[in-house]
Amino acid sequence: MTRKIFTGKLVDVSFDGALCQHAGECVGGMPTVFDTSSRPWINPESATSAELADQLREVVARCPSAALQIEEHP
Ligand code: SF4
Repeated sequence: MTRKIFTGKLVDVSFDGALCQHAGECVGGMPTVFDTSSRPWINPESATSAELADQLREVVARCPSAALQIEEHP
């Protein structure tokens, strides 16, 4: 499966579903961004402040499979 990029205001998030172990760190850690009942289920747009972007970086770092990755803006 290919890696998909979800664009945010401050940082983007990419996701490779083939790697996901369904550990739930993402949805439990930041439900405003990761919501499996929404489409798209990853919404980095809601990380609108530097603090929220940092929280998003921390939650993505907890993904055990590297299915999620932060894509920093240039
Ligand atoms: S934290 Fe990573 S492995 Fe776990 S459900 Fe989310 S994307 Fe999948």
